[in-house]
Amino acid sequence: MKTYDIVIVGGGPAGLAAAVAAKEAGNDSILILERDHELGGILNQCIHNGFGLHTFKEELTGPEYAYRFIKQVLDLGIEYKLNTMVMDIAADKTVTAMNREDGMFQIPAKAVILAMGCRERPRGALNIPGYRPAGIFSAGTAQRLVNIEGYMPGREVVILGSGDIGLIMARRMTLEGAKVKVVAELMPYSGGLKRNIVQCLDDYGIPLKLSHTVVDIEGKDHVTAVTIAEVGPDRKPIPGTEIRYTCDTLLLSCGLIPENELSRSAGVKMSPVTSGPVVNESLETNIPGVFACGNVLHVHDLVDYVSEEAKRAGANAAKFVKEGEVKSGEVIELLATDGARYTVPSTINVDRMDDLLTVRFRVGEVFKNSYVSVFFDDERVMHNKKRIMAPGEMEQVILQKTKLQESKPKKITIKIEKED
Ligand SMILES: Cc1cc2nc3c(=O)[nH]c(=O)nc-3n(C[C@H](O)[C@H](O)[C@H](O)COP(=O)(O)OP(=O)(O)OC[C@H]3O[C@@H](n4cnc5c(N)ncnc54)[C@H](O)[C@@H]3O)c2cc1C
Repeated sequence: MKTYDIVIVGGGPAGLAAAVAAKEAGNDSILILERDHELGGILNQCIHNGFGLHTFKEELTGPEYAYRFIKQVLDLGIEYKLNTMVMDIAADKTVTAMNREDGMFQIPAKAVILAMGCRERPRGALNIPGYRPAGIFSAGTAQRLVNIEGYMPGREVVILGSGDIGLIMARRMTLEGAKVKVVAELMPYSGGLKRNIVQCLDDYGIPLKLSHTVVDIEGKDHVTAVTIAEVGPDRKPIPGTEIRYTCDTLLLSCGLIPENELSRSAGVKMSPVTSGPVVNESLETNIPGVFACGNVLHVHDLVDYVSEEAKRAGANAAKFVKEGEVKSGEVIELLATDGARYTVPSTINVDRMDDLLTVRFRVGEVFKNSYVSVFFDDERVMHNKKRIMAPGEMEQVILQKTKLQESKPKKITIKIEKED
């Protein structure tokens, strides 16, 4: 088996953008390994528009957006293997993978980029009483059935969870002739983007019931009805608030979780908040030369941010191969408190950072007319007012290298503050 400097695990938008950036940074020895039969990742099944507004200033469908990057990979002659499952990544960066042509093979890479994306959280189905009849699907599975396989999962639909996939599938099923009766969301706020609530529910008159959950599924062989009920602040159903909907389909859209079995077994340090790797300013994990980007690192709302982040991972991987591990420089810790849940990255080595560094994070609840504040040690250096912040949307602050060099903070804290 030929060896490569940089092995990229996953050929979705993150893997593709990372490969292009690594090549443009001067590395000619790159291999993308993708378990599916085509490049493009989850975007291949996202046939709705709304992709690429930031990157291309155009509204593209998922496959169109993916193709823009696939074309660059092809034009640059970057190698890839499809139908190839990565089975293991060792701490010394030996990648073990398998496919029908090569069988099981190993590549001792100099740098590895983790770009495996995420999967749907099965939670939500687990503690619902009743049988497990046919007709219960995750929203992503339903999306694949409708958009790629050409099957309709059902005609009368209830959706549990208001993550973006659930919202998008509410519209999709409606356009395909189904009746979506309700979207029930356990939390008092939606887990999806505001624009998806407007364009996928409001525009089609589909009700969204916040603080509601499924309490009963009827039907032994196939779903015949679903009952939802309001939940209190303790998220327990309130007796007497039940509403029963006859339906043949229940879609679950209860969040996404990074696909990190490979990262974990490689010894990559994981964040308990994001379920993705802990990374530094170069998007490098605790294993020197192993980088992470895209939904495997933290679940993104927009693919544009995935591509932007992945380019940094690709360029930094190429730099690592060329220059090796850089050990010099002070490391600043980043903390998220008071409503901010996490930060990506978690540490910054000022010597290694670019002139500007985007730090991304999510909030844990809905905040109105509040401030994103950044503290260098105890000094507040940024105080940006936001009309609304919600857990479904990613937030960011941009740090300047010169400011960090001047102030030399030991730690940087991001917090959400109410009106002074
Ligand atoms: C239903 C849905 C709707 C969305 N709608 C929008 C939208 O309207 N606008 C927008 O901007 N964004 C949207 N997004 C978000 C966007 O699609 C994602 O942020 C983006 O696809 C993430 O890219 P990724 O490369 O990290 O992951 P993915 O696209 O999931 O790619 C990961 C790839 O890794 C491969 N892989 C995983 N494990 C292995 C392994 N062991 N070996 C080999 N290959 C492996 C997978 O097969 C996959 O191809 C949506 C996402 C979903 C799921």
